[in-house]
Amino acid sequence: MRFEISKVLDAIEGRVCTDPSLARAVLDLAEIIRYQDIDGGRPASLLRLGMVIDALSRELEEDSVQVYAVVHRALLSDADLTSNERMVVRRWADDGLVEVLDNPGDRMLEVADLLGLPVLTRVRFDGLRGRFPWLVEQPGRVVAPVPGAGGPVFIAHVGGGHAPVAGKRSPTGAKLLARQWRCPESGCALFGGGGGGGAFADLAGGADRSPAAQPPPSLRNGVPTCPRHGARLGDGGPRPRTEVLAVRVGGLVRRRFVLSEGQPVVAGRAPEQDGGIMLGQWLNDEARRWISRGHVRFELRVGEVIVTDVSTNGSGIRPAGSMNEADRIPLAPQQSRVLGENDMIELYPGVQIGRAEELPTGAPFTPTSVMAEAPTMAMRLPRP
Ligand SMILES: [Zn+2]
Repeated sequence: MRFEISKVLDAIEGRVCTDPSLARAVLDLAEIIRYQDIDGGRPASLLRLGMVIDALSRELEEDSVQVYAVVHRALLSDADLTSNERMVVRRWADDGLVEVLDNPGDRMLEVADLLGLPVLTRVRFDGLRGRFPWLVEQPGRVVAPVPGAGGPVFIAHVGGGHAPVAGKRSPTGAKLLARQWRCPESGCALFGGGGGGGAFADLAGGADRSPAAQPPPSLRNGVPTCPRHGARLGDGGPRPRTEVLAVRVGGLVRRRFVLSEGQPVVAGRAPEQDGGIMLGQWLNDEARRWISRGHVRFELRVGEVIVTDVSTNGSGIRPAGSMNEADRIPLAPQQSRVLGENDMIELYPGVQIGRAEELPTGAPFTPTSVMAEAPTMAMRLPRP
């Protein structure tokens, strides 16, 4: 039992990040873990984070969605969590996967404002409507996770409907995210070597993560500040450009990854390269036989995505996402091509990679649960 819970927590670890390109919603971990009504269990449980992430995945109709979690420092020693859970949260904090704060205050809303993300919370921030007008102007920007049949569902604070809705990065956010930042505190997990890219930071290179993955600084009196240390951040120069790509298998977006300048990424059945995107787990036998360990290489050069076939069998480009066979342009082994705005590269029929924003997911949709490793746990979900 304990072993299985550890596996679930490991799976959840892959869904928390502070990477502005990958996070899909912001939440306050201290709040989420105390939604006792969701499962009727212990006063605090880290598994509720997994349940809320699953709910987000269902709403966004996409697998492997990641969330940006702010964490009150007191949570690292919260006696309502198990020692295992506390250890896990400390690890996330040390790795910069979550943002640990002495006093989160309205940081959750600041992150949402800078990044244009929806907020998952039951708290009403009526007093902050002046500072963050989208709290009332954009229905779905703030949604409350509440118990539902088969897991949490969301209720919008303003307007009807359930779906969390993303906005745009604020002009300030766009400015802050054009630079990379350095915290004077040694070993700062957020603004040291790089930000937290989540367990999918594989793509950003582990310990030497790309500065492109740094979280947004906090603005205090107009000064970019480390939210963890309260220290003024140094400007480390321009942030590398990035492009977010998504892997779609069988009509379903399985994961996103960040391509940044100077850091090529190889995708395939099981790439040997650091930061490679492994597709093997989503492929059937035929696709597995066709697709090479490393099949295609992506590079971002002067804002253009260059794709090179590095496989044995070749691939194809689907211009503007066309599924018409006559439009498919073969890409022979060792051939390169600029990936147009709406183009997808197809490694094998039904296995495509393209810009995340241009890659619609096909219904019907059944996301893989992050809780899938917990089949025997008594989750005591309300019955439909
Ligand atoms: Zn710092």
